[in-house]
Amino acid sequence: MSRSLWLVEALAADPGAAAPPAEGAQRADVVIVGGGFTGLWTALHLKEREPDLDVVIVEADICGGGASGRNGGFVLSWWPKLETLIEMFGEAEGLRLAWASDEAVKDVGAFCDANGIDAHYTRAGWLWVATAQAQDGAWEGSVKTCEAHGIDAFERLTPEQIRARSGSPVTIGGVLEPNAATVQPGLLARGLRRAALERGVRIHEGSPMVALDRGAPPVVRTPRSAITAEAVVIATNAWAARIRELRRLIVPLGSDIAATEPIPERLAEIGWTGGEAISDSHLMVNYYRTTRDGRIAWGKGGGRLTPAGRVNDFLVDRRHTALAAERMRTIYPMLADVPIAAEWSGWVDRSVTGLPVFGRLKGGGRVVYGIGFSGNGVGPTHLGGRILASLARGLDDEWATCGLVSDRHAKFPPEPARFAGSLAVREAVARKERADDAGRSPDRVSRWLAGFAPSGYFKISEPD
Ligand SMILES: Cc1cc2nc3c(=O)[nH]c(=O)nc-3n(C[C@H](O)[C@H](O)[C@H](O)COP(=O)(O)OP(=O)(O)OC[C@H]3O[C@@H](n4cnc5c(N)ncnc54)[C@H](O)[C@@H]3O)c2cc1C
Repeated sequence: MSRSLWLVEALAADPGAAAPPAEGAQRADVVIVGGGFTGLWTALHLKEREPDLDVVIVEADICGGGASGRNGGFVLSWWPKLETLIEMFGEAEGLRLAWASDEAVKDVGAFCDANGIDAHYTRAGWLWVATAQAQDGAWEGSVKTCEAHGIDAFERLTPEQIRARSGSPVTIGGVLEPNAATVQPGLLARGLRRAALERGVRIHEGSPMVALDRGAPPVVRTPRSAITAEAVVIATNAWAARIRELRRLIVPLGSDIAATEPIPERLAEIGWTGGEAISDSHLMVNYYRTTRDGRIAWGKGGGRLTPAGRVNDFLVDRRHTALAAERMRTIYPMLADVPIAAEWSGWVDRSVTGLPVFGRLKGGGRVVYGIGFSGNGVGPTHLGGRILASLARGLDDEWATCGLVSDRHAKFPPEPARFAGSLAVREAVARKERADDAGRSPDRVSRWLAGFAPSGYFKISEPD
């Protein structure tokens, strides 16, 4: 098991109260499987609505050990996905969900303020940029969809403004989403854990669910306990692919980050001091931001693939962290000498549409799930937690009935086609994006195959 720089820093600052493994036969109102942002927000929403509810979290590792303590820390809305939301759910519901995601960005900050969580929450906006001609205007579809609905989520910046704000001479255009924020995700995950413990949530770390009885009532089994509950919430990100029924809803995909030494004076020299989160318009997205102590954390999507169900614990994928570092040096050539101080990798649960999927598992008992955040979960898991809290309580409210809840989600092909297909598409995307970066035209086969890639953070518009 390798830990991210974020989690190492957070644990050094405060290891937190003990959360010993689950033991013996127990009962609870709700058992949540997975102690990342999805599980923790679900627990917090449940307790906010019903403070006396008995809520248990079982976490295989430690809270924040998964993607929640490893991500880039971009707190983003779904405005870049508005077109997809409207296509899928109609105008009113698409807009409602996009607004809810926009609120979630603010809610994360407000929760931190109200609970004394210093997760370095900084609302300095998100720059969606192009670093090669082929990417230029990738945002236009999203920006125009927002404008058509009278929503000024994005600000168009001139190439000079983008270069000045990002400090990169290679960046050729882009837009700003001012409402977006960044966090130090390890501090956020551990802060939410503390807030959950303070509200009486029982947390058991080192407690993997090894079996799930779906009868009424359902039972979650860990190596040394059996917990019977009114409802079970599956919040296990890419590991949900181990559950047969959920397997085809997601592709587990690695994402990798390289972080530099602190270089605040070098950042000041190039003018990247505003704290903006930045991503380019690649499908294998480069996402980068600065930290409070003046590092650059550079992430790259589209990393490791694995056959369905075989999601293991994390080793650093050095081939992909090296690609991240290399890209940083291309986009910031004047920082080519800056050493990389930390590298880590994690699993993303890519869904077919790039939006999370919620629903109920078949069986007599109430077992609900929320997975598929597709590399954009730091903000949206706050909203996902609301949906899961409603589903777990069997409610029929605006969250339990929202468009993202269904028993007929789009599926990837079955194995072995899925793994073989994912590998072929990923390699084609890589070839196409290498050609784009070099200003060459990609070969037709790579272009065609790359068209099968599921969308990630945002729906990319083809340049006119
Ligand atoms: C490198 C990387 C960069 C990313 N960057 C961003 C970003 O900048 N912005 C953004 O919005 N999103 C980003 N994401 C995605 C974001 O981190 C996730 O969408 C979000 O953290 C998902 O939260 P989660 O709780 O669903 O998953 P996780 O945090 O992975 O939590 C799932 C938990 O379930 C536990 N678990 C698994 N199996 C079991 C079991 N059988 N029993 C008990 N527990 C189990 C795991 O140990 C894990 O702790 C990134 C992800 C990665 C990996």
